[in-house]
Amino acid sequence: MMNCWLGIDVGSVSTKLVLMDDEQSIIKKVYLKTGSSPMKSVLKGYEELFSGTKKELRICGAGTTGSGRRIAAAMTGADVAKNEITAHGVAAISVDKNVRTVLEIGGQDSKIIFIKDGAVYDFNMNTVCAAGTGSFLDRQASRLGIPVSEIGALAEKSTNPVKIAGKCAVFAESDMIHRQQEGCKSEDILAGLCDALVRGYLNNLATGKKIIEPVMFQGGVAANTGIKRAFEKALGFPIKVPEQYDVMGAWGAAIIAQKKVKMKSEIKAEQS
Ligand code: ADP
Repeated sequence: MMNCWLGIDVGSVSTKLVLMDDEQSIIKKVYLKTGSSPMKSVLKGYEELFSGTKKELRICGAGTTGSGRRIAAAMTGADVAKNEITAHGVAAISVDKNVRTVLEIGGQDSKIIFIKDGAVYDFNMNTVCAAGTGSFLDRQASRLGIPVSEIGALAEKSTNPVKIAGKCAVFAESDMIHRQQEGCKSEDILAGLCDALVRGYLNNLATGKKIIEPVMFQGGVAANTGIKRAFEKALGFPIKVPEQYDVMGAWGAAIIAQKKVKMKSEIKAEQS
């Protein structure tokens, strides 16, 4: 029988599930669209996660996070439902105990997390400005007729990124349309879009804060190499995208559940 821990992150755009072993390594992960029903996406993710896995798995505990963490916890009987800041921070620290800053961009919000000595000491979250999110990138990619997964490769080809307003989604979009009408190349518009998103993110979330290395970039948008490059250009140093960038919240939730269950059983053992 193999012990494992379940982590679930229900976001507005995607639902992520991980199975983690006792050593905190991910055995299996699932990333799927949340769609209109978080309940359905959790059920579907559950089925996918356990299909084809060995029958002898023993789930020792479960943790949930994300905007749908409560519903996911109620559905699965999870041991803990934790906010995304803590879950993302915990997973980043487990990848690199020296991590100082986490940049996280998801479908409908973005966050910055400040860490010292393996603990989160400050954070900032933006849930109101659409310009700094994955959904905004999705919308612009579809307007230009390209998959969002190709933004990075195309932006990399740019030799002359155009200037796009980054403060507000409405202005950014109208700037982009303007540039298209002027005949600017898609790659230059996309590179400008990445620069604008990063400028907006840093202005919104990091004004007056020092971004210290090592910096980790996670969340679905970390797949976008155009945004990674734009961050590196703006910050002036390299940032790391962890291998499990897309499921860091779910992974963190599994780690938190493991800690909680182990602590509970230690207390029980002491009392008996
Ligand atoms: P949530 O906020 O629901 O947790 P995610 O963290 O999964 O969402 O982020 C979703 C966003 O990630 C999408 O809106 C999209 O912009 C981006 N994304 C996801 N997969 C890719 C990919 N392969 N390439 C580029 N961007 C991606």
